[in-house]
Amino acid sequence: MSDLQRRDFVAGAAALAAATGIGLVAGDAVDAGDPSFMNNVPDPLLANKELPTFKYALEKSKGRVIGQSYGKEATVEQLPISKGLAGVSMRLEPGAMRELHWHATAAEWAFVNEGRVRTTVIDPQGRAETNDFEAGDVWYFPRGHGHMLECLGNKPCHFILIFDNGYFSEFGTFSISDWLGHAPRSLLAKNFGVPEATFDGFPKTEVYFARGAQPPEKPANPLQGLRLPPQTHKYRLLAQAPAVDNKGGRLYMVDSSSFPIAKTITGAILDLNPGALRELHWHPNADEWQYVLDGRVSVTLFGSHGRFRTETLERGDVGYIPQGYGHSLENIGERRCRVLIGFNSGVYESIDLSQWVAGNPVDVLATNFGKPPATLAKFPRRSIIIAPR
Ligand code: MN
Ligand code: MN
Repeated sequence: MSDLQRRDFVAGAAALAAATGIGLVAGDAVDAGDPSFMNNVPDPLLANKELPTFKYALEKSKGRVIGQSYGKEATVEQLPISKGLAGVSMRLEPGAMRELHWHATAAEWAFVNEGRVRTTVIDPQGRAETNDFEAGDVWYFPRGHGHMLECLGNKPCHFILIFDNGYFSEFGTFSISDWLGHAPRSLLAKNFGVPEATFDGFPKTEVYFARGAQPPEKPANPLQGLRLPPQTHKYRLLAQAPAVDNKGGRLYMVDSSSFPIAKTITGAILDLNPGALRELHWHPNADEWQYVLDGRVSVTLFGSHGRFRTETLERGDVGYIPQGYGHSLENIGERRCRVLIGFNSGVYESIDLSQWVAGNPVDVLATNFGKPPATLAKFPRRSIIIAPR
């Protein structure tokens, strides 16, 4: 760092300190040219004596309803801690379509919970893919890529959308009817090379959920013919073998190593048998967004400085774990519970408590806890991941 750069940097840090009301004690670190101290400026939301709530009853909210279709969202507005990820629960009735739209600020990952869904997505190279999904399947659309979702068949469908930005709102997307409804007809006529009258009767405002006939079982070809992208947007998560399968339950995982297009989101389905525990762990590289598909689960959060908080999540509730925070999930219900989990990284990383302990010399552990080595020698030799009741 040159002197000039350093002066700017120190001035910037001082301004930041003034703006946040946090004293600049670490003068030495600044002089040493170490910018990492900036990561220790506390987030006001997470810097209090108590941890904030990390639970939101998503399914109990009203959301946006048109006919028998709805979208309910959890963003930083509903759940302020969830800055890294947002989510939506969406139901479409037969014949309903979430109209053509894109998101300026987030990629979209989805898990189909019930029914069948058809999607079409286009990339900046003009290549489009139409896919049909069933329960247990997953899709991923990169940020900004245009897409639509429609219910297939004569039964409603339900899916959970996860976005890699907690400030993203499903009700702030760029919809095709909103755009065409507000552009002059002369502009549209010139754009498409068709008469202005073509646009008579087109919607004037955002349609959001379009309602029409049930789609054909086999989709019609697009106007340009088939021009498929090199990477598929579809992954059959529950059709794969689970990453973990033991007495306590199962963990299904999909990240970019098996689903290459999903570069910014990893997804998982965690099934815990009654009384089972997804052990204490943390994620070095990602925030975690949770949605309870079934059952009741007790989630704990450790935030350093002696801060520890527990929330009980039930079916339809959302939970959130900030990056690097310690946490666990325990099934406290009578039957198996199922939790959908999303991470805002395309690479899955976790460090489990049992693994951490197993990786340290026994004398180190003995000193750390002030106990005889024989006590620590009884601890597990490998990662537990899911502990049975
Ligand atoms: Mn979307
Ligand atoms: Mn986790």
